[in-house]
Amino acid sequence: MQTLHDIAPLRETLQAHRMAGRRIALVPTMGNLHAGHLALVERARGLADVVVATLFVNPLQFGAGEDFGQYPRTLESDRDKLAAHDCDLLFAPGVETLYPGGLETQTQVHVPDVSEGLCGGSRLGHFDGVATVVSLLFHLVQPDIACFGEKDFQQLAVIRKLVADLHFPIEIVGVPTVRAEDGLALSSRNGYLGADDRALAPAFHRELSRCRDALASGRAPDAALSEARQALQASGFRVDYLEIRGPALAPFDIARHAEGRLLGAVYLGSTRLIDNLAVSLPRPAGSGIRHG
Ligand code: AMP
Repeated sequence: MQTLHDIAPLRETLQAHRMAGRRIALVPTMGNLHAGHLALVERARGLADVVVATLFVNPLQFGAGEDFGQYPRTLESDRDKLAAHDCDLLFAPGVETLYPGGLETQTQVHVPDVSEGLCGGSRLGHFDGVATVVSLLFHLVQPDIACFGEKDFQQLAVIRKLVADLHFPIEIVGVPTVRAEDGLALSSRNGYLGADDRALAPAFHRELSRCRDALASGRAPDAALSEARQALQASGFRVDYLEIRGPALAPFDIARHAEGRLLGAVYLGSTRLIDNLAVSLPRPAGSGIRHG
């Protein structure tokens, strides 16, 4: 596996692959790789001739007081994991390589609507930072396919709208969330949890699953959400948000939608965890919704 840190050799290498008619897949990451990231690499491997992973802790997507400085940087072991998963190229640029003019005056990309609320409500500017770095990586790599995790469900929706609105000729592939055996969604931030909080953390997924089951058995959404919030708080979490959204994260309308997404963010101490699940609600009587 080749590792590159600069833009010129990246462009040169990828241009040669493109000229040879090879299909390129991109897997953007912030590193500190776990089985969730590697599932994206495996998916990309099955869909393309050349798999490019990127490793960049993007300062633009961290707010003031967030964990940019503390975020784990583990280039050596990430490189070994990617090579073992048959990745062809790792692009790991420095901040000054992607943003040579500095962060203050960097041109940014804003994806309206879908960036608002949920994580965008609590992390102001976060999705502008994500949309900016992903646009940059799309321009530099020009992949045919790019893989993103459903674990960051709002991010996936932001990227899908970005690609549609800016006519990037790139197929976006969403990959299901990889979990620890106890149900906790794998995340680089799980490493911040002390032993006690790590033991508590799977209760987040358990409560989401319980809420999903309550919704499926006909519990009213407002009641199911409020019970889940209370249960999470009683378990020791501080709830940032817990919501149901419809397709493409549009507001959920029980009269129109039978399928939705249950999305939550909680704090355990200062560690923020996110997770989401697909939900199916029984058709309300007289709604006229037909399932084909
Ligand atoms: P990150 O390094 O956290 O920016 O994540 C890089 C990519 O890996 C994003 O597309 C994430 O959605 C995806 N990802 C992170 N954790 C998981 C997981 N547990 N399962 C599947 N994909 C994940």
